[in-house]
Amino acid sequence: RKRERNISGLLRERLPKDILALLKNAGKLGQKLGYAVYVVGGFVRDVLLKHPNTDVDLVVEGDGIAFAAAMTREMGGRYKAHPKFKTAVVVLPSGQRVDVATARLEYYEYPAALPTVELSSIKMDLYRRDFTVNALAVHLSPDRYGELVDFFGAQRDIKDRVLRVLHSLSFVEDPTRIVRAIRFSERFGFRIGGQTDRLIKNAVRHSFFHRLSGSRVFHELQLILEEKTPLACLRRMHDYKLLAAIHPLLALTPPRETVLMEVENVINWYRLLYIEPQPQAWLVYFLALCSGMDAEQFAVVGKRLNFSKRTAGDIATLRMRIRETAQGLFNWEYHKGPLSELYFLMEPLPVEGALFLMARNPREPLQKYVSLYLTTLRGKRLEITGNDLKGIGIAPGPDYTSILRRVRGSVIDGHAPCRAEQLEMARRLAVGESIESLLARRTSGAH
Ligand code: ATP
Repeated sequence: RKRERNISGLLRERLPKDILALLKNAGKLGQKLGYAVYVVGGFVRDVLLKHPNTDVDLVVEGDGIAFAAAMTREMGGRYKAHPKFKTAVVVLPSGQRVDVATARLEYYEYPAALPTVELSSIKMDLYRRDFTVNALAVHLSPDRYGELVDFFGAQRDIKDRVLRVLHSLSFVEDPTRIVRAIRFSERFGFRIGGQTDRLIKNAVRHSFFHRLSGSRVFHELQLILEEKTPLACLRRMHDYKLLAAIHPLLALTPPRETVLMEVENVINWYRLLYIEPQPQAWLVYFLALCSGMDAEQFAVVGKRLNFSKRTAGDIATLRMRIRETAQGLFNWEYHKGPLSELYFLMEPLPVEGALFLMARNPREPLQKYVSLYLTTLRGKRLEITGNDLKGIGIAPGPDYTSILRRVRGSVIDGHAPCRAEQLEMARRLAVGESIESLLARRTSGAH
């Protein structure tokens, strides 16, 4: 047997201790059960590329579900089996997820593979994968621990920074791989190999994409929109005429491109603020990709992407609320309303909607006001709570919400900055005084 490259040193150097221990234990466990165990796919690619990645995918030559069961017996945690696919997901006590798959030697499942009988089951497993760089495995069994399994020249491709499919029917088998090619190419700065590029163009020309289920297209689109550079990916999808192939309404028009560019700016700005929770970036980009559509067109796109009733409804509602909020903001700006009004306008809108509003209306001062809301107004804490209202003898009930809300409005407008004033304001509101008379009294008292 040819001596394979051993990367146990690299593993030790690159991986966090708990992942390293997990890999070693998995190998030992496999030995006990008489199975060869490998860590495979993107995890191995990222070790070689020195990119952090903690998504552990194991392939077992043996019974993957039995392996997952044994793993939880030895290491604790729980597992969920998918007998139909002979796969399992293990969740260890630390919360670490481990995907376990079974490598099988079943001739009829691999019409594209030729000399089937000569293939070991790990080779068959790797042959089903999308690109050479994702088709690497590392032996975990103690006697071969760290040995790299590279049947398809993945190490050379990583060195040359090129994405290549494993065989010419790859995109026929699964056209979503086209989107994946673009995503990995942008993420790692790899080019798409010449032959692979021709196969993509051929697949698009023959409309393979039309056959694809909406859910699969949407899943890959969502992954694109979660990358660091979605717009670059979308442009390349556009160059391959992929967006229009998914649906003509999704074509990348110049106005949409402008909105997407602004979304990228706004998302990057917001990420740097480290405000938890971080927004679902894909949703903001998706709103931009659907900008300019009316409700009916959006419904058509939702159908093509096989949205559940609920998802379709949620996004359609969000689009409507964004439009209403924009209208409200224009009015507010026009009559120069108080900040509290801005606050109450923006408050019901999820952060994704607020970010989209900023991107869609990049002009000052609107963008400035939404960012003021996101960075300052939204986080303003009251010095009093419902407990304090109880403490000063206000009967608990639905009034609490409305009283606290009105106090909050005043605080945002710069009145009642301290706790005592907020309490006093709450007390007077509770006995039916209006905010206006209260504020009038404060002002005259100050004179
Ligand atoms: P990421 O870093 O984005 O998670 P990944 O390479 O880990 O990328 P996953 O989508 O998690 O990608 O898939 C895990 C592995 O499964 C990939 O490395 C690849 O080998 C294989 N794979 C995933 N999707 C496909 C597909 N459509 N066709 C063939 N193989 C696939």
